[in-house]
Amino acid sequence: MIDKETMKMNGEKLVKCETCDEVFPYVPQKRFCTACKKRRRYLRQKDYAKRDYVIAKRKTAEAIAKKKAYDYARRNPSKGVEE
Ligand SMILES: [Zn+2]
Repeated sequence: MIDKETMKMNGEKLVKCETCDEVFPYVPQKRFCTACKKRRRYLRQKDYAKRDYVIAKRKTAEAIAKKKAYDYARRNPSKGVEE
């Protein structure tokens, strides 16, 4: 186990974020600062939703029926999901 003294002896290594100039303590495999990491994850999720097979999945009869039932329940809260 590495204690604080050992870390001080090794010196804290700093690395630069690959997308902005933010500098953060070195962590193996970490290439982006926290803000960029969050932004990249958000963009990736947005990109994922646009992929053909994801869109195709949303267009199946089953998915459409599910969405219809959901919308119906939302429009008619008093009636609930039962038909
Ligand atoms: Zn960054």
